Amino acid sequence: MITMKKIQILTLAASLSCSLTLTSCLDVYDNPANTPPTNINEDSEFISMIDAGTYAGDDFYQYVLGTWIAQNPVPTKDEDESIGTNDTQSANSFAALKGIITGGRNKIATALYNAYSHQTLKADSIALMKKLEEVDDIMTQEDMTKLMAKLTKQGYAAPFVVVPSVYLRKIYPELSVIEDFDLDYLSILKMGIDLTDATAIMNMGRKWKDVVNDNNENKTRHSLGHYDPHQGKVLFTNFRARGADQGLIDALAAELGMNLETIAADSDYDKYFKALASYSLTEQKLLLKYSILLRDVKYLPFYELNPSNPEDLETLIKYIAVLCQDEHNGIATSMSHSYTEEIDKEAKTKVTEMFEETRAAFLNRIENNPWMSDATKVKAIEKLNAMAFQCGWPENYHTEWEATVPTGKSFYEMVCNLFSQYADITKKLMGQASEDALFYGNWMTGPAYTANAFYSPDNNMILMLASNLVPPIYDKSKPDFYNYAILGATTIGHEMTHGFDSKGSQYDATGKKSDWWDPQDKAVFEQKQQQMIDHFNKFEYMPGVYCDGKNTLAENIADLGGLEIGYDTYMNTVKTTVRSERDRLGREFYRGFADAWRYNMTPAKMELYKKDEHSAPKLRVNGNVCLTNEWYRVFDISSGKLYLAPDKRILIW
Ligand SMILES: [Zn+2]
Repeated sequence: MITMKKIQILTLAASLSCSLTLTSCLDVYDNPANTPPTNINEDSEFISMIDAGTYAGDDFYQYVLGTWIAQNPVPTKDEDESIGTNDTQSANSFAALKGIITGGRNKIATALYNAYSHQTLKADSIALMKKLEEVDDIMTQEDMTKLMAKLTKQGYAAPFVVVPSVYLRKIYPELSVIEDFDLDYLSILKMGIDLTDATAIMNMGRKWKDVVNDNNENKTRHSLGHYDPHQGKVLFTNFRARGADQGLIDALAAELGMNLETIAADSDYDKYFKALASYSLTEQKLLLKYSILLRDVKYLPFYELNPSNPEDLETLIKYIAVLCQDEHNGIATSMSHSYTEEIDKEAKTKVTEMFEETRAAFLNRIENNPWMSDATKVKAIEKLNAMAFQCGWPENYHTEWEATVPTGKSFYEMVCNLFSQYADITKKLMGQASEDALFYGNWMTGPAYTANAFYSPDNNMILMLASNLVPPIYDKSKPDFYNYAILGATTIGHEMTHGFDSKGSQYDATGKKSDWWDPQDKAVFEQKQQQMIDHFNKFEYMPGVYCDGKNTLAENIADLGGLEIGYDTYMNTVKTTVRSERDRLGREFYRGFADAWRYNMTPAKMELYKKDEHSAPKLRVNGNVCLTNEWYRVFDISSGKLYLAPDKRILIW
C-alpha cells in the first residue's frame, strides 16, 4: 500500500546516551566461590568498543559496546534521534546522493537543483491555488467524479492512487489510498496564502484517516487479484461486483485508459469506496483539497537559499535528497539507477555467494532439526530451496521506465510533471515481470539507497537493496566474521528465517497461504513460540518498560534464526582446524553480531520500541545470544545474569 512519507530532512548524527537496564535471570553468581567470573582477555577487531569491566555473561551488549556507548552520546535529548550502525548506513546513503546531485550525475536531480529558487514561490503558490479552485468550482457529482479521475491520472491520491504493485509476481497496478496523513497545519500557512478552509480541510483529512487506519489484522491484500501458482497467473475477481462506485470506476477507466478489471487492491477497498460514497459533495471537495495539499505543499520552495553559501547548499541538497525518498514521482527510480551504478559490482557477486552459503547452512540445520518430523522437514526444505534472492540491481535495466528530465518553468511545476510521467510509467508496466520495479521502483521497501532488506511471503523472495552492499553492512576491507555477522546473520539469515517465523511459516514454497505443517510439529512450533514470548517478556529495555514478547515474536524468531544460521554459515568458511583459533573467530562473530545493533538513542526514540515489531537493539543481542549453545561454549560462560540452563535455551531453526 502506498505510503506518502512526511517531509523529513535527513539527519546525519545526533544524540545522548540512554541507560538501559536488563532484568537478571539470576541474582547471584552460581559459581561455587560466588565470585564474579571474568571475560576472556584477547585482542579483537572490536577492542576499542569493548567494556572489559562488564562480564559478557551478565550483559553481552554492554560488554561488546560499553566503551563506544559511553564515548558517543546522542547530542540532543528531546528529538527521536540515534547514532549507530543503521544511522551510519543512512548517512552513507545520503553522502552518495549528495555526490550524485552536486556532481551532476543524475539529470533529473541536476535539473531540480538548478530550478530551485525562492523567487518562484509566489508563482508556484498561485499554481497550487488554481488546482484548489478547480475543486471548488465543481457543482455536480458527475463533474466531481471526472475530476477525481483526472487528478488520479496526474498522480494524486484522489483519494485513490494507482501504483505499481509487485506482490502478484508481475507488476500490476494497485488501487491504493493515502496512508500517511502527516500534513501539519503550519505548512499550509507557510505557503503565505490565506487558505480560509484550512481547518475544515485538516478535519476532513483526519476523518478519512480514521477510515483508512481502521485496519483489521486479517486483512489480505489480494482480494481483487491473487496469484494462482497452479495456473501460473494472476486471477482477478470482478471489480464491479465488489460494490465499487460505477461512476468513478468508469471515469478512472476512461481517464487512465486501463482495464480496471485487472487492478489489484487490498481487501479494505470496499470500505474506502463505501466511505467515499457517504460523503457529501462539500466533504469530497475538502478531501480532494487535502490530497492535493498533502502531496504538493512540500514541493513549494519555502526557503530562501543561496547555493553559494555552504550552509544553504547543504540544505538544498538535503531537500533534493528528501524528494528522492518519495515513491511516486519518478525521482526515486532514476536516482536508484544512478546510485547502484556507482557500487562495486563484485559486492553483488560476493553477497549472492553468501546467500547460497547461508541457504546451505539453513538446509543442514533443518535436516538435523531434533523436534520436527521428516514430513514437515521435506516441506520446509522445499520452501527454502524455492526461496528467490533479488540482490542490489536488475540485470537488464529498462531505461524506458525511467522518467525523463521534467518540463516546467519552476521547481514545483517540474515535480508535478514528474508525478504525471510516473503515472504513465505505471500504466506501461502493467502485466510485466520486472526486476527494475523491485529494485528501483521503491514499490516494496524503498529506493535502492534505503537502509532495508525485505522478505515477501507472497513471492517467497528476499529483496536485498543495494544500500546493503556497501559499508557499514558489507565491507570488503573488514574480516569475514564482520561481514558474516552483520550482513550474513542480521540481514540474510534474518530475512531467510522470516520465511519460517510465526507469520511466514503460514505460506508455502509458491507463496500461497497454506498449512504445510504436520499437526504435531505445528503444536511443538506453537509451544516454542510461547516460550519465545515468555523469554522476551522478561527483558526490560527502559526503566519499568518490558519487551512485548507477543508483538515482537516474528522478529525475534528471525533474529534468533539469523544468528544461529549465520554462525554456522561463517564457521563453514573458516579454514583452520585449530580449535582455539576457531573459537576465537567464533567470539569475533558474536561480537560482530552485537556491533550490528550498536546504538545510542534518545529516550524519545527508545519509546518508539513500545509499538515496534522489532525488539530494542540491546534485546536483539542479549535476548538471542543466551539462547545459543555456541555462545556459552566459545565465551566459556557458565553463570551470569543472562545464563540459561541448556534445557531452557530455545531451539527453533
Ligand atoms: Zn525482520
